Amino acid sequence: MAEDEDHKRTIVYGESALSYIKRNTLPAYPRSYELWYTYSAGYNHGLNRAVNEILKDKGRVSSEEMLAVYGKFLSPNRLGDRLDEVGSKVSREVEDLVNALKLSADATSDYGDVLERAGQKLKKLKDPEKLQIFMTHLMKSTHTAVASNRQLETQLLESKRQIENLQANLEAIRYESLTDELTTLSNRKHFDATLERSLAHAEDNNSSFALLLTDIDHFKKFNDTYGHQTGDQVLRLVALAVKQNVKSHDSACRYGGEEFAIILPMTDLDEAKSIAEKIRKSVMSKELVKRSTGENLGRITISIGISIYRPGDSTHSIVARADEAMYAAKHGGRNMVKTEKDLSDDQIAVS
Ligand code: GH3
Ligand code: MG
Ligand code: MG
Repeated sequence: MAEDEDHKRTIVYGESALSYIKRNTLPAYPRSYELWYTYSAGYNHGLNRAVNEILKDKGRVSSEEMLAVYGKFLSPNRLGDRLDEVGSKVSREVEDLVNALKLSADATSDYGDVLERAGQKLKKLKDPEKLQIFMTHLMKSTHTAVASNRQLETQLLESKRQIENLQANLEAIRYESLTDELTTLSNRKHFDATLERSLAHAEDNNSSFALLLTDIDHFKKFNDTYGHQTGDQVLRLVALAVKQNVKSHDSACRYGGEEFAIILPMTDLDEAKSIAEKIRKSVMSKELVKRSTGENLGRITISIGISIYRPGDSTHSIVARADEAMYAAKHGGRNMVKTEKDLSDDQIAVS
């Protein structure tokens, strides 16, 4: 049944992708297909915005434009490429700086030599006219040294500006590589690293933390009824409910398609349950209205499973217990919170 629904939904995207390729008279390479399939499914907002802008400006998308959009939004190497770019800019900047410093050091030591020689000459000079010529030479050398120092100062300032720019670029890339674009929560990669850190911290400090896993109830049906894009809006809404109920030291992440994971440091089972209840109630209290048509889409609910750190836990065992608790919530009728305590002994995962 589920496979049948997936088949129908994805065929629609596939056919739509091919028709975009035909309409824009583009080659039907796998990459074109991937781009237009993603565009048709609508879950990569940046990509859709970029394509829509080109369509608005020019009426069609050319091969070059398509490749550029692909490179920016779909290429698996896009972050790596940008990092390489920043890396090579940094080395160029440092090379320029080292050259400027070398030049200035040379100029300063030349000037030092001039002064040294001048000092010796000065002792012997008695003729005011010669003294005048001598002073003019010395002034010139001083001007040159000052000018070279000024140039270095300007170059140093420019380098500082460039390096600050590159730092901001790196920070943006780092943020992007750890953030889920749709919900702006942390992504799975960030979650995996945070969970590892939380386990190590709990072990070293004899402390504890809670893990919440949420899953939207009957979301497949919602998507099939109202479309993937409306489904994406719902994902944003659930993410917002999560954000509004956690504190800054907690870590909320998009764990999978419609699943979120939340790590609550120094939190016991009762506290974790009360936070989970707040998130659950906040989601179910929202009446969904489609912005474009005003159509009322009813309400959605989520199921939440909770596990608590146990000494000796691995990332796998603590996630497995939260997952089992979440499935217990599904089996219990959905729209509810279950903790690992609610699982019968034979259900409990061990590390
Ligand atoms: P259950 O109550 O048992 O969780 O039922 P369900 O239909 O939600 O089942 P499941 O959790 O297995 O369904 C996952 C569905 O979530 C499949 C897909 O339709 C939808 N989904 C996954 N990722 C995304 C996404 O990024 N955007 C949208 N719109 N839907 C997604
Ligand atoms: Mg799911
Ligand atoms: Mg679900």
